[in-house]
Amino acid sequence: MKLKLITYNISPAYDELNVRWQSNDNKISGLGFISKGEDKRIGLLKCPLCHNENYALNVMDGLCSWCGFNANKHENHVTNI
Ligand SMILES: [Zn+2]
Repeated sequence: MKLKLITYNISPAYDELNVRWQSNDNKISGLGFISKGEDKRIGLLKCPLCHNENYALNVMDGLCSWCGFNANKHENHVTNI
């Protein structure tokens, strides 16, 4: 399944970019954020593939504890919205 990465700001009060994923059938799922560090890694809170909430210790790695989805290695990153 191909997923597009969507970034958006929840509010001007936050300078952190939030992240969701959109599948080919236009369903939007998952939840994450782009860290403020220079490496711009994606933190994964809720997985767009298995829809489980991530285990806290794996959030900053962007790695789903349940199915292994890696938010930082996805090939189809498209930034929009
Ligand atoms: Zn998962």
